[in-house]
Parts: sequence; C-alpha cells; structure tokens
Amino acid sequence: MPEKLLGTNNKLSKQSSRGEPYVLRGLSLAPANLSGYETCPMRTPDCTKACIGVKSGHNRFNPAKQAKIRKTKLFFEDNETFMALLFRELNNHRKYCDRLGKKPVVRLNTYSDIVWEKKHPEIFREFSDIQFYDYTKMHRRWDLPKNYHLTLSYTGYNWEQCVEWLTTTRNVAVVFKDCWDNPLPTEWRGFPVVDADEDDCRWLEAPGVIAGLRTKGSVKNAGPFFADSQELFTPLTISGDSPDTNRKESMHIANTMD
Ligand code: SF4
Repeated sequence: MPEKLLGTNNKLSKQSSRGEPYVLRGLSLAPANLSGYETCPMRTPDCTKACIGVKSGHNRFNPAKQAKIRKTKLFFEDNETFMALLFRELNNHRKYCDRLGKKPVVRLNTYSDIVWEKKHPEIFREFSDIQFYDYTKMHRRWDLPKNYHLTLSYTGYNWEQCVEWLTTTRNVAVVFKDCWDNPLPTEWRGFPVVDADEDDCRWLEAPGVIAGLRTKGSVKNAGPFFADSQELFTPLTISGDSPDTNRKESMHIANTMD
C-alpha cells in the first residue's frame, strides 16, 4: 500500500497573490511507462527523455521513483482501493482548506496524462468546490467539467494544435531553453508569454497566453521540445514541425523510459 497519494513539491507550494488564497496538492504517478503501465499516451521521445518526473530534484532518486510506481500500480491493479483513498484525501484537503479559509486546488497529473474527466468524472461532481488543473499533451481534451482547467503542452511537433487552443481562449505551455540567464520572451510565435515558473496557477491564466517555463533537471537537449526563445519564426515552414514529422513522432511513442 502506498503512503499518501496527494503531496506537494517546490512548484506546487509556491504561493501567488493572484486570485484567492489557495492550498495546492498534487498526485504524482509514475510518468511514461516507468511503472510498467503507460500513463502518458501522447508522450514523445523528447519529453520522455527530459521528463522532470524522473530527471529533476528529488525525482531523480530511487525512493521517489518507487513511491510513484507504488501509487501507479495501485491505480491500475486495484482501482477501487485507489479511488477510495483518493476520495478520502480529497475530502481531508477540502476540510483542511475550510479551516484555513483557503481554496482547495488539486493537480491530478503532476507527472502523468490520465484522462480523469473520462475515467473518473465523479471526482469533479463530488468535489465541485475543489479547483482541479493539469497540463496535457492530448489536444482533444476540451470537453471538461467546470472545475477542471487544462493547459496544452507544446511538444515541438504540435504547433497547429497549440494555435487551435490559443485562438479559442485556452492556454499552451512551452518550455524554453537558455532562459535561466536570459529573460523569457514576452511574445512567441505571435502570442503573449507569461512567466509560468512564478506559480502553478494555470487556472487563473488569461485566455490565449503561452505559459512560459524554463528547462529544469539534468537534460539540456531535448530536440524541439525545448523551444528556442530567439527563433526566427515563419508560420508555414517551421523546421521539424510539419504534419509528416508529427506522424513520425507518433510512431516513436512506445519508447521506454530509462
Ligand atoms: S507527457 Fe509529461 S509527464 Fe509524461 S513523459 Fe512527457 S513530460 Fe513526462
């Protein structure tokens, strides 16, 4: 049996002056196929290689990996028990926030891409007072409960889908390389960029903005997944971003995680 399902980390514990005071918790399942079960159906070789779920901070170490694996195995092998535990912890989080007079917020896919609104829509009904949010690489996930906010992640190969999201009042997250010493761009490919490392409050984002992130962890090169903040962009001829490349990319999704 895993320890607690919900927890926190440096990013989740960042407080923001935006919106009402909140307490944020996250569910950290094992990314990709680390547990023997696939939790990121649309991952690419690049994001798998650079995944902060195993490549940054304490996530690099075996105890943290094993804790994620135990939770993921429970989710897939005894989903009833997993959901009972999750409901209990969501309820506790709600009560804790009530006592503090703060808004409960939960990120269910801290390092995974489970389609919660389809697999367990009851969560969003039962905890309608909790704000849920996630990042996803599945662009068709737009039929969502009111209390679930999603940000589409740029993979280096899905710019057309990103434009579709950005032009229909949703948001996109882009990881920029070389921005630790240099500022994030204020605009990228014609869309405004906000600093998404300042907090993790993606549900408060203005519509149509890019949530700009800096690279984290030991991996410095992850192909076009790490975007070039200084690129000279020509809308119809993005190198490595063609539909052909997209098809090639999806053929490689079955990579294993080391
Ligand atoms: S989809 Fe996200 S969580 Fe999954 S392997 Fe890629 S970067 Fe990691």
